[in-house]
Amino acid sequence: MDTIEKFDGNIMHTYGRYPVVMEKGVKETATDENGKNYIDFGSGIGTNSLGYCNENWVKAVCDQVKTIQHTSNYYYTKVQADFAERLNKITGYSAAFFGNSGAEANECAIKLARKYSFDKYGKGRHNIITLKNSFHGRTLCTLSATGQDVFHNYFFPFVEGFRYVEANNIDELKENLDDTVCAVMFEYIQGEGGVVPLNRDFVDAVFELCGQNDILTIADEVQTGVGRTGRYLAGQSYGYRANVTTLAKGIAGGLPMGVCLADEKCKDVLGKGTHGSTFGGNPIACAGGKAVLDHIENTDCLEQVREKGEYLKNKLMQIPEIVKIDGMGLMLGAELKGKKAAEMAKSALDNGLLVLTAKDRLRFLPPLTISYEEIDKGVEILKKILD
Ligand SMILES: *Cc1c(COP(=O)(O)O)cnc(C)c1O
Repeated sequence: MDTIEKFDGNIMHTYGRYPVVMEKGVKETATDENGKNYIDFGSGIGTNSLGYCNENWVKAVCDQVKTIQHTSNYYYTKVQADFAERLNKITGYSAAFFGNSGAEANECAIKLARKYSFDKYGKGRHNIITLKNSFHGRTLCTLSATGQDVFHNYFFPFVEGFRYVEANNIDELKENLDDTVCAVMFEYIQGEGGVVPLNRDFVDAVFELCGQNDILTIADEVQTGVGRTGRYLAGQSYGYRANVTTLAKGIAGGLPMGVCLADEKCKDVLGKGTHGSTFGGNPIACAGGKAVLDHIENTDCLEQVREKGEYLKNKLMQIPEIVKIDGMGLMLGAELKGKKAAEMAKSALDNGLLVLTAKDRLRFLPPLTISYEEIDKGVEILKKILD
């Protein structure tokens, strides 16, 4: 039986998959089981920050596997301590909680916000405002937090306590910020929602109003974080640090990890026994995370992301079928004229280029390490298929 048949016979059909079996990868190129190469403008949905099998990352991960692969959170490990210290230093946060995915990082943030408010004000101040067109994950709670009706189906009842406000609508935000609200949660750039950035005015209003009312700000940087937009956190481009920030996707270079970061005010909210995760802070994932941080801190990676992002954006804008580009750094979304994004993504695949879609847009999240040469090659393929 071939892989696809075996796969479909044994794994739930929750994804629309392309009929390709990926076998290996080197740098920014993936190779399927037939030996066909693909330039990667998607990096496994922004997870393979340093491309495939980056040498230093492989070494760090393999060294860790050979030393200690896991222990429970009843004990301490140096690698988790080292990684957390460096994460806090580069982001300005005070304390981290490690989980294994973006959804888990967001669950932690939601629990933290509710408990912060409960501890200080008692019951009833539990509502969290999230934005329409947002995406926060697939667990019941993070689905409930996700402000898109399409996700609120089948699995009733959903978790109570979320209110959805239109992104960039300050009036609607004000109307909903009453004394039952403990937090506002948002993506600076809505990734799954189509790569839609928040306006500066709106972000200003969120931080101002939340600050005045002791309402926590939660930035879901699961997709925008870890250098993706040309700063370690996208919030830095807006000049803000939320009380709580969540990271996942690219954090460990392709190993499963999510983290919830809390500032000085929130660092002690989740005390002993209030939260946990068996695999959270797994040493191998931490070693991978440290290797990603090494690259970001010890090279001009972030500057390169900004420059290459501009370069890619300018090249894409020269394609007549692309009418609009949004995003920052190496997180870009392209609106197409007269073409369907899903069909174009399939056609790109056939022509040796991996791209993502988000809503009706093409979405590009190449590895942070992509070269100009590969950007050029990828854009040539896009030009060809869009024409
Ligand atoms: C991908 C994503 C998530 C969910 O992450 P998982 O690791 O799939 O649980 C949450 N928020 C945002 C903004 C994301 O892009």
